[in-house]
Order: sequence, then C-alpha cells, then structure tokens
Amino acid sequence: MELNKQNRLATGLLSERFPEVSGMVINMTYYQKGVNPVLMLRTINVLPSDSAYFNMECLIKGCVDGGFDLTPAIKSMVKNRKRVGRGRLVCGGKTDTRTSDHASVEYEITIQYSRKSR
Ligand SMILES: [Zn+2]
Repeated sequence: MELNKQNRLATGLLSERFPEVSGMVINMTYYQKGVNPVLMLRTINVLPSDSAYFNMECLIKGCVDGGFDLTPAIKSMVKNRKRVGRGRLVCGGKTDTRTSDHASVEYEITIQYSRKSR
C-alpha cells in the first residue's frame, strides 16, 4: 500500500499530465474466472486536482504484480481528443492458486476536455 501511495504521488496530478482534460469518468466491471464472474462494478470520477494514476489493482487475493493499467488507453484517447473509449484488460499477475487469466476488467472511459486549449 505504501509503495502504491508513492507511485501515485510520483505520477502527478491530472491537470499537470493532461492539462486539456477538465474531467474524466471511468466505469469498470471487474471479472474473475469462475461461476460468479462479475466481481465488482466501479465508477471513478477523476478531477484535474486528482492524481493521474490509472494503474488499478487486481482484486484477487494473493495476486502478485497484477493489475490493470488504463494509462496507455487514456493517453491515446487524449492524444486523439476522443471522448469515449471502451476496452478490456486481462490481469497479467500470478497467484499460487489461480490460472493466469484469473481476472479481467471491461472499462468505459469518458473524457471531458476544456475548451480553451488548442
Ligand atoms: Zn490478478
């Protein structure tokens, strides 16, 4: 947890990293492999004053080096001034008890841009 916090601080704020973005909403559905695949629904509102850290943790207990990094998707969306982006990521982490495709997320990212820039 402590390392995670440091990563967040090192990443900087949304307003610093993507100054043209005035707000962002990330909808995520977490899936696990198994009988009840939907693990959690999550909506994250990101403001310019929030940290630009989009490496979401894997929710599976004991998962090592796992997670879902939305940063590349967000970067390319901002570059192309795209408002809505959807996709799916599979956790690449390892656990003792589960297979490598133990968890995935589906995401939908909506970005609002400020009018003044460019
Ligand atoms: Zn995982």
